[in-house]
Amino acid sequence: VQKDIATPIRTKEILNKYGFSFKKSLGQNFLIDPNILRNITKFAGLTKETGAIEIGPGIGALTEHLARESKKVIAFEIDGRLFPILEDTLSPYDNVEILHQDILEANLQDIIPEKFSGIQDVMVVANLPYYVTTPIILKLLENNLPIRGMVVMLQKEVADRIAANPGTKDYGSLSIAIQYYTTAETVMIVPKTVFMPQPNVDSAVIRLIKREKPAVEVLDEQFFFNVIRMSFSQRRKTILNNLTTGLEKGKEKKEEILHALQLAGIEPSRRGETLSIQEFGSLSDALLPKFG
Ligand code: SAM
Repeated sequence: VQKDIATPIRTKEILNKYGFSFKKSLGQNFLIDPNILRNITKFAGLTKETGAIEIGPGIGALTEHLARESKKVIAFEIDGRLFPILEDTLSPYDNVEILHQDILEANLQDIIPEKFSGIQDVMVVANLPYYVTTPIILKLLENNLPIRGMVVMLQKEVADRIAANPGTKDYGSLSIAIQYYTTAETVMIVPKTVFMPQPNVDSAVIRLIKREKPAVEVLDEQFFFNVIRMSFSQRRKTILNNLTTGLEKGKEKKEEILHALQLAGIEPSRRGETLSIQEFGSLSDALLPKFG
């Protein structure tokens, strides 16, 4: 049996063999610790019935773990220079397909059912390129794709914001955008030393499991997210002030907002960062008739 790709020695061998140089602009920080990889796959709850989607296989460090533990792996890689390398490093595995595509451009609605036909359980597992973590996660959640969820490595600072609870400094529109669709938890804090080259920021692994239904049922989803954006536009201001600034002008605007806040059972002096997703839902529904 060959040594794991993700050992420092084997990674250096592979990089030297192909004269590969890292592109910082593509967020290329490769994992060189098999233990971390074992933990990531463990948190994903993979079985031989699972289809795994990877974003950015690099030289295949995580890909080979996914290949061993799932039924089939589809990996999206933007950097064509990695293709000959992946063909070599992943040659022991016949259940991996690498697609030369920017994940943000990929037509996942079609690709997932096509590549995973007959597979019920699909998980996204990735060590994400840090320059695009948020757009990737939102793309995977917003289109109601047939996936169970994702276990992804990203900047710790972003993980903190995603998994934050109301009333904390990290809680904001990103926390709500993601917790609306998923239950979010940080499952691992990861030191810089497990990457080559080492990134400038600390890292964490989060697990997002999709809810059967969104966390709150609202009359108008787009208006709900608009209300949230307005409520956080100036964090130190009260919900009343932010809404008064953000909502379109109306004759009795302030009175109407106060009335909606009262209907939703929210004190006008509270700040947006203290409102739960459910409270934002009630508020958005109460504001909708006048401001939607
Ligand atoms: N999975 C490998 C590992 O853990 O060692 C590499 C992870 S590295 C942090 C991110 C990978 O994503 C790189 O291979 C990079 O080329 C790729 N990548 C960057 N932007 C991408 C995009 N928009 N779509 C697909 N892959 C991308």
